[in-house]
Amino acid sequence: MKNFRWTEPQTIEQAVAWLAKEEGKAYPMAGGTDIFAEIKEGVVEPELIIDLKAIPGLSYIQKDKDGVRIGALTTVADLAADTVIRQDYPGLSAAASSLATPQLRNIGTVGGNLCQRPRCWYYRDVQSVCRKKGGSRCFASRGKNKYHAIFGGGICHIAYPSDLAPALIALDAQITIRSPRGEKRLALADFYALPSKNVRRENVLAADELVREVHLPPVKENEKSAYIKLKERETWDFALVSAAVRGTVSGGRLNAVRIVLGGVAPIPWRLADTESSLRGKELTNASIKEALQADLLKARPLQENGYKTALVEAAVSQALMSLA
Ligand SMILES: Cc1cc2nc3c(=O)[nH]c(=O)nc-3n(C[C@H](O)[C@H](O)[C@H](O)COP(=O)(O)OP(=O)(O)OC[C@H]3O[C@@H](n4cnc5c(N)ncnc54)[C@H](O)[C@@H]3O)c2cc1C
Repeated sequence: MKNFRWTEPQTIEQAVAWLAKEEGKAYPMAGGTDIFAEIKEGVVEPELIIDLKAIPGLSYIQKDKDGVRIGALTTVADLAADTVIRQDYPGLSAAASSLATPQLRNIGTVGGNLCQRPRCWYYRDVQSVCRKKGGSRCFASRGKNKYHAIFGGGICHIAYPSDLAPALIALDAQITIRSPRGEKRLALADFYALPSKNVRRENVLAADELVREVHLPPVKENEKSAYIKLKERETWDFALVSAAVRGTVSGGRLNAVRIVLGGVAPIPWRLADTESSLRGKELTNASIKEALQADLLKARPLQENGYKTALVEAAVSQALMSLA
């Protein structure tokens, strides 16, 4: 492991000033549950770690007339336990509760979860200089690819591992980004970018930008949400496939719906065709299976991960049926 410097800014302005000064050689750290593993494994070699935890006022869950604001340093455990989140956004609460272990949820933060790096074993192996690390090949495309993407891969087949990202995108969350130039807000769905846009990063954050806050719009009348995570083992694990859904059901019919998958693509993956063909339809396992076909036809499974299409059907059906 290479030596690095360490700083503990007291304000977010100081933090982004450090990021700007170091020009891509400094890394922000929140809970450290992901970045420390990367440093120890030699996958990243920061010159400077910017410890965000010393900055006061970045951990909060606040409800007002415009919805709910969640500070970037809010822990996953606090999010899972929050009574407003549990009541108004049960899909998000379920996603937070499903994540990792109690110890990791107590330390890991919302901002860190949304910016975590992929778990692809080629990316995490310092010896494998894959495309994501500046090489010329994606080793997963013809290698061991059981856990990789079935949608959106192309030049790099990582599956984005965050549980919170699909749940938040299904809720139409927005994200506030802070840089030395000020603040900007964008839809969380637009925060993530496919490898074809930038194979080295999974999101559009510039080297001098930090996630400051996540914003959830107010829940509409009769609107419900759910999150189903399918894993290989009962104990802690990343999702093989997860489905985050939000919608309203009346008279057994689905009125408005959002479906976002985790574990299947380099970014959280929205099933827009399934959404539009389900609108106004009676909610049954058969109607869900039929509606999914248009999106599933676009799947491009690799040699070892064709099983994920069946898991998509199972996760989406279970999640949607729970809205009824
Ligand atoms: C054993 C284990 C199991 C796990 N299981 C799951 C799981 O089931 N589901 C899941 O979603 N995750 C899982 N994780 C991944 C991770 O630990 C969590 O997602 C956690 O929430 C990350 O938060 P953190 O604060 O520790 O991030 P950190 O490690 O501090 O940071 C992660 C990344 O985000 C960047 N970053 C942190 N904060 C910000 C910010 N505010 N703005 C911009 N960039 C920032 C860092 O530079 C780093 O690149 C697991 C990790 C481990 C080790």
